[in-house]
Amino acid sequence: MMVDLFKVDTPRRAVLAAIAAFAAMPVLAATPLKVVATTGMIADMVRQIGGEAVVVRGLMGAGIDPHSYRQTRSDIVAMTRADVTFWHGLYLEAQMEEFLADLDRKRSVYAVADNLDPAQLITHADYDDSFDPHVWMDPVIWAQCTSIVVDELTNLYPEMRTLFEENASTFVQEAVALDAYSRDTLMKVPPKSRILLTAHDAFGYFGKAYNFDVLGIQGISTESEAGLNRISELVDILVDRKVPAVFVETSVSDRNVRALIEGAAAQGHDVSIGGTLFSDAMGVDGTYEGTWLGMIDHNVTTIARALGADVTARGRLGKLAGAA
Ligand SMILES: [Zn+2]
Repeated sequence: MMVDLFKVDTPRRAVLAAIAAFAAMPVLAATPLKVVATTGMIADMVRQIGGEAVVVRGLMGAGIDPHSYRQTRSDIVAMTRADVTFWHGLYLEAQMEEFLADLDRKRSVYAVADNLDPAQLITHADYDDSFDPHVWMDPVIWAQCTSIVVDELTNLYPEMRTLFEENASTFVQEAVALDAYSRDTLMKVPPKSRILLTAHDAFGYFGKAYNFDVLGIQGISTESEAGLNRISELVDILVDRKVPAVFVETSVSDRNVRALIEGAAAQGHDVSIGGTLFSDAMGVDGTYEGTWLGMIDHNVTTIARALGADVTARGRLGKLAGAA
């Protein structure tokens, strides 16, 4: 028997509408996309954009160095079963490249930094055709990486296009606000103190965006060891420019930074540790610093305060646990 909805009486039509609405809802809750992301920063971005339509597994937690990270057995299982895997690219995950290239032949695998305009990338000092991968340090560049995430999630789940696009738009707006806060806050550092010395060269994009001289003891990968010459060259710069503070990183040993401080002290210049920065990994899951917005807020606020700016330790949104 044909059911003519237009002849159904009002209560039945209401019931049908309720059933239709009920049927529509669990589609979202019951079948979220399974997504794997290599770094915490990418996992955070995909969670913000995907909302309830995704379940994200981030492979690298707090304190993990992506330059040396190698996939574990459970990572391999997760990536093989995922609807899509997002990685960074630009040779950040140096030890995973081969595995990811192989996986790419069978599964959906995308590098979020792939579509960035090379004109805004920093070239590698040693190799002509490779770039500094640390683009999450510039909110304006990082916001552009949302486009690949939106495109690929939409390919897999076209019904959720509007959700993905709206969430990405919110993410971009937050990135713009974070960039403005960073600019204002770092402008309060006296010009002669705008020098950032850290364990490895993760802050090139930060320096370019906010007019800081940036010096890393190790290069843009932690895989190359710093030589004694590099250490003594940096000690001379610290002493000459009377740099008040240097910084350690959560994902890199502080051994070299301590050697610098000792070297400067031997020449009669006291340098302090200005704080611990989140370079290639975010803070602990479930904290504000464990999000990309919180990570950058922490870095900017910590750097500004250690180098002489009079700004609150609570950061842009008043959420920081307390920058040093
Ligand atoms: Zn790095």
